[in-house]
Amino acid sequence: MRKNGNAPVGLIVGLIFLGILGILVYLYNSSLFEREAPQIALEKEIEWNLKEPIPVRVTDNVGLRFIRATLSDGEKSIVLETKELKTPQMLVDLNISFPKNGFGANKKIFELTIEAIDASKWNFFAGNEGRAKSIIKVDTKRPELSIIGSSYKIMKGGVASVIFRAQDDNMKSLYIETNFGKKFYPTPFHKDGYYISLVAWPTSIENFSASVVAIDKAGNISKAHLPYFIQDKKYRLSTIALEDRFLDGKIADIVSEVSPERASLTKLEKFKYVNEDMRKGNEAAILKVTSVVPTQPISDFYLKPFYPLRNGKVVASFGDHRFYEYDKKPVSESYHLGLDLASNAQSGMQTSNDGTVVFAKENGIYGNNIIVAHGLGVYSLYGHCSSYLVKEGDNVKAGDFIAKTGVTGLALGDHLHFGMYVQGVDVRPEEWMDEKWLKESITSVMESAKKIIDR
Ligand SMILES: [Zn+2]
Repeated sequence: MRKNGNAPVGLIVGLIFLGILGILVYLYNSSLFEREAPQIALEKEIEWNLKEPIPVRVTDNVGLRFIRATLSDGEKSIVLETKELKTPQMLVDLNISFPKNGFGANKKIFELTIEAIDASKWNFFAGNEGRAKSIIKVDTKRPELSIIGSSYKIMKGGVASVIFRAQDDNMKSLYIETNFGKKFYPTPFHKDGYYISLVAWPTSIENFSASVVAIDKAGNISKAHLPYFIQDKKYRLSTIALEDRFLDGKIADIVSEVSPERASLTKLEKFKYVNEDMRKGNEAAILKVTSVVPTQPISDFYLKPFYPLRNGKVVASFGDHRFYEYDKKPVSESYHLGLDLASNAQSGMQTSNDGTVVFAKENGIYGNNIIVAHGLGVYSLYGHCSSYLVKEGDNVKAGDFIAKTGVTGLALGDHLHFGMYVQGVDVRPEEWMDEKWLKESITSVMESAKKIIDR
C-alpha cells in the first residue's frame, strides 16, 4: 500500500515539473519574451548638408517602446529626439534634423547614435536593446559647376554640344536634365573635372530647355542652364492612301513571316499591327542599343560628314509625320525616324566614320538592320539591307562597306533607311551629313574649350 501511495506523489511532482517546464518553454517561445533586438537602418557613414533631415527607420517584430537619437561632436552630446511609445509600434520613421543651437559653428564631424528598446519581457522585463552609430561628415558646399563652351544653337530634331567643369570631393551624380524628362549623360573630357555631352531635341517635343545638374553625396545641388539659341523647324505632314497592292503584298508577307498566328486578321488590322505594334518593338530594340554612353575619358571627337550611299537620292525625309488612310478613312499614323536614300538596287553602303558594329540583325519594319557606335553616345543606323558585310562586334573603319541596300522590312523599293541617334534619341541625319554643322557644333566647340582648359 505504501509503495502504491508514494507512486502518485512522485507522478504529481513530475507532472507539476513538466507543467512548469511547459510554461517556461511556451513563454520562451512566445512573442512576450522574444529575444531579438530592434533593427536600425543607418549607414555607417553619412555626408550631410545639414538641411535635408536624415531618415532613419527602426523596426521590431514585437514592437518598439523607446527610441533615442543622440548627436555628439566628441566633446558634448545632444539628445535630438526621444520617443516613449505607450502603444508599442513595429515601425518608426525618424527624421533627424540638425539642432539650431548647441554645437560650435565649424564642427565638421559628428557621431549619431540611435538606441531602441522593444516591448519584449526578456532581460528580466527590460526588453531587447538595439544600437547603431554613424559617422556624420558635414558638407554644405555645393559642387562647383561652370560651362566652358557650347554650340551656339539647337534646332528642333537636332543636336547641340556642351563642355563644362564640375568639381566636388563627394560627387554623386552628374547629368543634363531637359524639359521633356530625358536625361543626357556626359563623358569625361580632356582633363580631370571636365566633361562633354551631346544633347538632342526630339521632333515630337514643342520646346527645348536643358541644364547641367551636379549633386554631391550630401545632397547639395548646382545647376547651369545651357545657353542655346532655340531654332524651331516644321516637319512635313503627309497623308498616304493605302493601296491593296501594298496591303496584300508587303504587309501580308511581313505578317506571315514574323507573326504567322495573325494570318486571320483583316488586311487593315495587319497593317495596324505592323505599323504600330511591330514598329514599337523595333524602336524599343534600337533605343536599348543606342542609349549606351561610353564613360572612358576622351580628348578628341572628330567625325567626317556621313555619306552612306554614293549618289543616293533622297526619297523620304527625316521627321515626316505620316497619316495613313484607306477608302478616305484614317487608319494609322507614324513618324519617319530617318532619311531614305536610293541608288541602284543592292548598292554597297558605307560607314563614313570609325566605329563598332553593335547591332546586325533582322528588326521587323527595319528589315536587316545595322547599327554602328561612333563614341560619345552617337550611333548610325542602316535599314532594309539585302545582305550584311559585317557582323556584331566588328570594328569598322571610315569608308568600309558594311551592307548592301535592299527591300527587307517595310520597304517598297530598294533603298537605304539611314538614321542617326544620340543617347537613344533619333535626330536629323542631315546635320551629320553637313561638314559645316559638324565643325560649328562639335569640332570648334571642343578646340576652343581645350584652349581654355589648357590655359
Ligand atoms: Zn525610311
